[in-house]
Amino acid sequence: MRDTQPELSVVVPMYDEEEVLPIFFERMHPLLDGLGCTYELLVVDDGSRDRTAALLLEAAKDWPQLRVVRLLRNSGHQAAQSAGFRRARGRYVVTIDADLQDPPEVIAEFLATVREQDVDVVYGVRSDRSSDSWPKRTTARLYYRLMCRLVGKQIPFDAADFRLVTRRVVDAVNALPDDGRVFRLVIPWLGFPSTEVRYVRAERAAGTTKYNLSKMVRLAFDSVTAFSAAPLRLATWLGLLGGAMSGLFVIGALVIKLTGRSIPGWTSTVLAVSVIGAIQLFCLGLLGEYVARLFQSSQRRPQFLVGYDSLEDHGHQDPVH
Ligand code: UDP
Ligand code: MG
Repeated sequence: MRDTQPELSVVVPMYDEEEVLPIFFERMHPLLDGLGCTYELLVVDDGSRDRTAALLLEAAKDWPQLRVVRLLRNSGHQAAQSAGFRRARGRYVVTIDADLQDPPEVIAEFLATVREQDVDVVYGVRSDRSSDSWPKRTTARLYYRLMCRLVGKQIPFDAADFRLVTRRVVDAVNALPDDGRVFRLVIPWLGFPSTEVRYVRAERAAGTTKYNLSKMVRLAFDSVTAFSAAPLRLATWLGLLGGAMSGLFVIGALVIKLTGRSIPGWTSTVLAVSVIGAIQLFCLGLLGEYVARLFQSSQRRPQFLVGYDSLEDHGHQDPVH
C-alpha cells in the first residue's frame, strides 16, 4: 500500500477540526473501505492549533490508508488543497471538506460517473443552499456571477471544493507556475471535459466555520486578482471621468467668476483641485496599466492545454503545453 499508486486519493484540508474529526472518520472509514478500490485518505492539517494533529496521528495507527500531511502554519483552505494536489498519488483525486457538509456518499457517484463518461472533472453542485444563511447565499451568488465574467467561462454555480478530477487535471494544476490559486476557478479555466453531480448540502456536523470574514475577503481578492487586472485599470477610467467633470467645473467656475458672484479665491481652488485630481487619477491608472501587463506576464500561465492530437492517438494523452 505504501508505495503503490492507489486508485483514489481523497484530499481533506483541516483546520482546527477536532470536534468534527471523530464523526468524519466514523462515516468515512466504512464508506471508503466499501468503494471496492484502493484508496488513500490524505488529510492536510493546515497548521491546526487544537488537538486535530494528535487525533490524526492516533487514527493513522490502525488505518494504513490514512495519510497525514501537516503544513507548518495556517496557510488557508486553497493552499491546503494545493498541498494535497501535490502529494496525492491517486488516479482520481477527490477534494472534500472535513465538516460533512458535503456528503461523502456522493464520492461513489463521482467515481461511477468518471468511469462511465469520458470526462476529467466531476463537479459536486449543490442543488439547494437552504442550509446556508441568507447573507452567505447572497454573497455567494454575487461571487459566482462576477467570477463567470472574469474567468470568461461558464463556471458551475454553487460548485465549491467538492469534486473529483483525474490525474491529467492534477498534473495540469500542479504545472501552473502561479501561486495563490483558487481551485474552483482554475479548474474550470483549464477547460477539461467535465460534468456535474447534484447533491444536497447539509449543515456543518460539528464545530464552527473556519472561514472567518477576513478569509472570505481574502478568497474574493485572490479570485479577482488571479484572473483580472481590471481593478488596476479602474483609476484610468476614474481619471477620464474626473477629467470630463473637471472640464465642466472649469467652465462653471469661470462663468461664476465672470458674472462676479464668486467668493475671492474660490475659482482658483476649484480649478486646482479638480484638474490636479483628474491628472493624478489618470497617471495612477497609467501606472496600473503597466503593472497589469507585468502581472499578466509574470503569471506565466500556459495559453492552452492540448487534450487530444490525432497524431499521437494511442488512447488517452496527457495534456502538453
Ligand atoms: N480550512 C482549512 N484552512 C483554513 C480554513 C478552513 O484547511 O484556514 C478547511 C476546514 O477545516 C474545512 C474546509 O477548509 O475542512 C472548509 O472550511 P469551512 O467548512 O469552515 O468553511 P465554510 O463551509 O464555513 O465556508
Ligand atoms: Mg463548511
